[in-house]
Amino acid sequence: MLELNNITLHFGSLAVLRGIDLQLKPGQRLGLLGPSGAGKSTLLRLAAGLLKPTSGTLSNSYRHPLLVFQEPRLLPWRRIIENIEIPLRAAGCHADEARTRAMYWLKQVELDAFAQAWPRELSGGMAQRASLARAFALQPDLLLLDEPFSALDPALRTTLAALCRRCLDETGATMLCISHHPHELVELTDSCLLLENGYVQRFDIDPAAGAQGRSETADLLYRRLLQHEALVAVG
Ligand code: ADP
Ligand code: MG
Repeated sequence: MLELNNITLHFGSLAVLRGIDLQLKPGQRLGLLGPSGAGKSTLLRLAAGLLKPTSGTLSNSYRHPLLVFQEPRLLPWRRIIENIEIPLRAAGCHADEARTRAMYWLKQVELDAFAQAWPRELSGGMAQRASLARAFALQPDLLLLDEPFSALDPALRTTLAALCRRCLDETGATMLCISHHPHELVELTDSCLLLENGYVQRFDIDPAAGAQGRSETADLLYRRLLQHEALVAVG
């Protein structure tokens, strides 16, 4: 369980987070949206234990948080399978087990045919799929995704979001995912947080309302984000 109570975080005189309350229970999938510079990545780094709050209380019982970034960050001098095996070995996994797990997750992201390829031989979408395989292979108890699909074109983003959903369904992993695309985020999550002016507002997605309900929540979030864009454009 991750629990933030009245968290503030300042960088010097800049108050980025002013009073954040949030809970992330095991198995829950939470989306995080907000205008650029709102503090989304900062909140993710707090959840990963990489930053300490200025005030408030934070308790985190997740032991293996894992951050995934917008860029796949593969080691260019290692083959795809080695990119997945290396962190597994570093985490204490035996060589055979690391190979088995790496191949399993490469298959899940439909990259098993590219196990021996070099990162430079992969397209952007394939490299991001390899990065997801590497993340899931490490069996994190908390997956923190920072705009994982933003560098990809819309069709690929939808495919990757669906693939990520399948992997989440399989592992039951707890997730906090930042995105600029509410319509994708509602397909991946149970609830979304909108971060504005240092505070969060929660938008729960009613599972009983199905696709229609998800779409309505996404429209609402999209309009809220557009309002910000308009204010920035005018201001
Ligand atoms: P977002 O991910 O929502 O775009 P960030 O969390 O990256 O926003 O940043 C929020 C604000 O905090 C921005 O104004 C950014 O410039 C500032 N910021 C982020 N990290 C640091 C840091 N390490 N030192 C100082 N300012 C920072
Ligand atoms: Mg960010």
